[in-house]
Amino acid sequence: MDKCSTVIVCANYFLALSQESTHPLPTRLKCALKGFVLSLLGVRACFSRLARTSNFKKEVQKLCFFYFLLDTTFYWLHRLLHTSHLYAFHKLHHRATKTKPADAIVASWLEIFLTGTVPFFGAVWFTRPHVKTFRCLLLFAMPFLLFAHSQFDAAHQKHHFLKTCNFGNTRFWDFICGTL
Ligand SMILES: [Zn+2]
Ligand SMILES: [Zn+2]
Repeated sequence: MDKCSTVIVCANYFLALSQESTHPLPTRLKCALKGFVLSLLGVRACFSRLARTSNFKKEVQKLCFFYFLLDTTFYWLHRLLHTSHLYAFHKLHHRATKTKPADAIVASWLEIFLTGTVPFFGAVWFTRPHVKTFRCLLLFAMPFLLFAHSQFDAAHQKHHFLKTCNFGNTRFWDFICGTL
């Protein structure tokens, strides 16, 4: 296990737990533990696939492909969680209709796996970025999630409230599928 990645994952969850939330601390702690374990398993699963040599142009190309894959898998797996069969695993996250940053980590095991572990580490597994690029991505993953649940991301706030639109990270798939 890469020590640096482990420290980043720890720092991410300390950061998340220090932020405001609509959920009580025991719920956040329980969810942080689930996210922490799944993140470490994700790091473990893809660390050996990371590139050790690269160049700037290659890394930019990989980053674009990484973000496209992440956004695509996140959009479709998130929509899957909104089907009647799986919504039970997503409703904890939707309990907050007007979200605060740390609400980002409050979710079930299945939701964290489907909309966190699979999109992020799956995209890393396929695109094989450089080790340093991977650590940067890991470092920005939690601030990105916290921002998405802050008052500054009106689109995700609308998703939490209406539950029928803005399923993606970007608006790309929402635009294509008419769920804006
Ligand atoms: Zn959310
Ligand atoms: Zn949702």
